[in-house]
Amino acid sequence: MRHLEPLDTDNNLEEAEIAQINNLQRNSMAVNELRQQLERQRAQPSAEFCEECGEDIPQARREAVPGVQFCIYCQSKMEKLRANYRRPDDSSE
Ligand SMILES: [Zn+2]
Repeated sequence: MRHLEPLDTDNNLEEAEIAQINNLQRNSMAVNELRQQLERQRAQPSAEFCEECGEDIPQARREAVPGVQFCIYCQSKMEKLRANYRRPDDSSE
């Protein structure tokens, strides 16, 4: 006959439950984020032409990046500009 220590079992269960609850919370947060993302995408459909240079945005890109407004060239140009741009908050020294 196996002897179980009730305290150990309780602790394990509690830990497992807490982990499960944490996972559920994380999941519901992720779901909310996804939902918000989808709502934004629905509000802003992918552009057929680049907002910056007016070039065609290939359908593959529009499908891969829902809500896309720029061609790959302009997008990477803007990302570089953004990366180079220093926010005043960052200079904490
Ligand atoms: Zn462009």
